[in-house]
Amino acid sequence: MPPSSLAYTEAFALDADEPLEGGNYAARDIRNELLRALPRNERERALALAELVPLKPRQVLVEANLFIRHAYFIETGIASVLASAEPRKPMEVCLVGRRGFVGIPIVLGTGRSPMRIMVQIKGHAWRIPAAEFETLVSECPTLRKVLYAHIQGRLIQEALLNVCNACHTMPERICRWLLMARDRMGSDTIPATHDLIARMLGVRRPGVTATLGNLEKRGIIQLVRGSVNVRQPKALERCACRCSHRIDAEYERLLKSSIRSSSPGYRALPGDI
Ligand SMILES: [Zn+2]
Repeated sequence: MPPSSLAYTEAFALDADEPLEGGNYAARDIRNELLRALPRNERERALALAELVPLKPRQVLVEANLFIRHAYFIETGIASVLASAEPRKPMEVCLVGRRGFVGIPIVLGTGRSPMRIMVQIKGHAWRIPAAEFETLVSECPTLRKVLYAHIQGRLIQEALLNVCNACHTMPERICRWLLMARDRMGSDTIPATHDLIARMLGVRRPGVTATLGNLEKRGIIQLVRGSVNVRQPKALERCACRCSHRIDAEYERLLKSSIRSSSPGYRALPGDI
């Protein structure tokens, strides 16, 4: 599902660390679902404060227990909310991509969180300084509703992933992770190594290799140099547990519900949910 416009292509071709200011960015090119859900005036206010920054693998967006300096609306790539229980290594309790944002404690006025949020798959995000974002949220009613709806979605995602990790088989969870990553990337190609998937799911790498090898043998995926290419998404869904479907259905319901209850001036972007 690649974007087609030249402006988007140029912006996302940036490999350098130079940010792009949001005020000059065409609204139709926005991929983040929360920004897309906003009425034009609120979206423009948000973008005027934002800069488009690259996200690099293993970049820490939020450090545990430190005050959060920026909110991020992810356009491409994936970040993980990580939690650890000694002596195990941190594992993923929530996956954030173009459906979401990073910076919940800013919205709630709590400032920080014990969870670290780290980029797993490179991409780009709109970044807004915390103080300016706080003011923006207080002055934009639809943004507030959309963010609250998203926060509820995140709570549900974390709860369902906890149950998933405890109850479903490793192959089911690996397929579930691939479906969620594909959805949040907006692409059939997921640049994830076996090691990354193993770390995120808190499982051993040989198990991931065996499962991916089996899926490849059946033609459901193709493994290409550190990436997983999903060739048969429907077949992958049949191999996964239903957790990804339940999480995404709830996100969509919550976002639609927040938009319906917003101001009458709301006008969706073409292709909006
Ligand atoms: Zn599951």
